[in-house]
Amino acid sequence: MQRFLTVLILFSLVVPLASSAMAAETDSIVVYSARKEHLIKPLFKRYTQQTGTEIRYVTGKAGALLQRIKNEGPQTQADLLLTVDAGNLWHAANEGILAPIDSPALESNVPDRYQDPDNRWFGLSVRARTIVYSTERVDPDNLSTYAGLAQGRWQDRLLLRTSKKVYNQSLVASLIEAHGAEKTKKIVAGWVDNLAVAPLSSDTKVLKSILAGVGDVGIVNTYYFGRLQKENPDLPLALFWPNQDNGGVHTNISGGGMVAHADNAEGAQDLLEWLSSAEAQGLFAGLNMEYPVHPDVPAVEQVQNWGEFQASPLNVATYGARQAEAVRLMDQVDYK
Ligand code: FE
Repeated sequence: MQRFLTVLILFSLVVPLASSAMAAETDSIVVYSARKEHLIKPLFKRYTQQTGTEIRYVTGKAGALLQRIKNEGPQTQADLLLTVDAGNLWHAANEGILAPIDSPALESNVPDRYQDPDNRWFGLSVRARTIVYSTERVDPDNLSTYAGLAQGRWQDRLLLRTSKKVYNQSLVASLIEAHGAEKTKKIVAGWVDNLAVAPLSSDTKVLKSILAGVGDVGIVNTYYFGRLQKENPDLPLALFWPNQDNGGVHTNISGGGMVAHADNAEGAQDLLEWLSSAEAQGLFAGLNMEYPVHPDVPAVEQVQNWGEFQASPLNVATYGARQAEAVRLMDQVDYK
């Protein structure tokens, strides 16, 4: 009994000392995030509970955060950049603001096609940019490929988001990679011909405009469909997986990279590794109704119910590499 008490007393003395010593040693991690606060906060909270490491973060638009890190240079507080779209991650790497990470954990958690070939950024969640249609006015047998949306049957029925959005730049970049510039130009010109109204400012507007009968088909990121479906499970809209025997569905990522001038490089790597781990992936993807990047982690039920599909095998770095070409091409065919 006495020995038990002694152990208990020692234990209660030792634990607080050990944890305060740890807190003094570990620096906090600073994250600049273009991923919205409500999608990252629960994960950061869990990480802090498990490790004792505090995370400070700022959120903002992808382009603005990239520019800020660039302007701050060696003075930056940022250790880790989180952003959406491989096009943005590619730009950040190209601007030299990210440092490569040599990490067996990231290599095994993140499939090759969802990471920078030079390891300066890694995907953390996957979204498909796919076709959505009115279940009241469209027979899905008439849908086939992204190129198929240029067919005459979709005249005045197609809805697209603006070409200014990086998601569409990445999509067109992937079409150029798959079909070449000439054929892609014909496809995109056909889309523009088929538009029901001028390009819209958001994916949600594309979905709502189909519901309102303004058009019948569109191209959207899966999670935007998921949000509306969550509000109304009987939505008269459905997703269609194009190019199933011809290149696969266009998928993209949200992801992150360690800032080249990070004060806490070790912390940045630890956090990125943890976010890619099987433990964190379900929550990271699930909060936004995306697909986990980790191959062993299932998507949440609502997402699984959209069905399985063949995704494009292209490395998403291609979307950045061909972005300037994609923007020029869209401009040439007057896709606003
Ligand atoms: Fe988005």
